Amino acid sequence: MKSTYNTVAVKSWAHVSPKDWYDWRWQYNNRIQTIPQLARVLGINTAALKEYRTVVRYYPLCITPFYFSLMNVVDENDPIALQCFFDQKEIEFSLGGVDDPLEEVRDMPVPGLIHRYPDRCVVIITNACATYCRHCNRKWMWKKKIAQDKKAYLTRMIEYVSEKPVIREVIVSGGDPLTVDEGTLDWFLGSLRSISHVEVLRIGSRIPVVMPMRITKQLCFMFRKYRPLWFNTQFNHPHEITAEAARACEMLLEAGIPVSNQSVLLRGINDKYETMRDLYYGLQRISVRPYYLFQCDPVKGADHFRADIQSGLRIMEKLWRNVSGLCLPQYVFDVPGGKGKYPLYPFSDFLAKGLKTHEYFFDKKGEVN
Ligand SMILES: *Cc1c(COP(=O)(O)O)cnc(C)c1O
Repeated sequence: MKSTYNTVAVKSWAHVSPKDWYDWRWQYNNRIQTIPQLARVLGINTAALKEYRTVVRYYPLCITPFYFSLMNVVDENDPIALQCFFDQKEIEFSLGGVDDPLEEVRDMPVPGLIHRYPDRCVVIITNACATYCRHCNRKWMWKKKIAQDKKAYLTRMIEYVSEKPVIREVIVSGGDPLTVDEGTLDWFLGSLRSISHVEVLRIGSRIPVVMPMRITKQLCFMFRKYRPLWFNTQFNHPHEITAEAARACEMLLEAGIPVSNQSVLLRGINDKYETMRDLYYGLQRISVRPYYLFQCDPVKGADHFRADIQSGLRIMEKLWRNVSGLCLPQYVFDVPGGKGKYPLYPFSDFLAKGLKTHEYFFDKKGEVN
């Protein structure tokens, strides 16, 4: 498990006390958000990064010092760097992709609330994040002002849910919902919990990976009141399974909150069997259950991350053959146009042949193929 920091981070933040480093407020307030800030921590001249000015105008930069500290800055294919550093490819729009391929906005009966599947809805309570993932499927939203009056914006969501008895689960998402101040979050979760037909709450947050110090005792104490509360996070690479992230997940688990993982298949980052195996073994070691592996959506600005479905299926097939069932996520594709999630099954040649062909499974010596 990785928990040592890269030398650049050690040097750039040498003056920071451990007390500050492990304080999420310090991490949040010291996010790297501009080219000069990035140049400073990398110890290079701002001019060396000037070609990226256009990219950040479209898709801003945002990285916590903690997440930055996990990367090997001299490796241009570092899996952490690839997920949070800008890339010219993001603005090569000719590659294709649309801002909102899943047409989430179409399924918003009130602003920020996506009601697509009858029994559950997603609420985007903020567009702020601790770290912007370059593969984000809501990256078109980063620069939008999503609400003039936050309280009114959230109140409309609560009203909608309370008027719709078919909704039994509310998925609190964003942005990252854990960047919202604790009082507001407490009030919002409490309001949802008091609606009798809302049986389950779910939080979708990458905070355990990118700013694990945000998972405090106080936050867990608050969450505890609103169980059954499920927590979905997003680890994409074994390097992200740090001692700090493990601790954050453990605190949630100790508060009675199951933690699951939704990873995204990312070209050049985790689209290899060995990487995926190590990721899922690592998650199982910290008691985090792999839930989904997403086929990367055809989002404008994230095209270069998309691996093809066949290679994803090959990885899934090899995982099925080799690793514990508790390590296996469901590989899914969210079909553009708002058609919803579809499972992508490995062994489709077997399905095509049907169950009748006994020979499919066994060779002449009776060994499993
Ligand atoms: C993914 C998604 C959900 C949650 O689906 P699960 O399969 O329950 O994880 C809910 N609403 C929308 C719009 C979604 O895209």
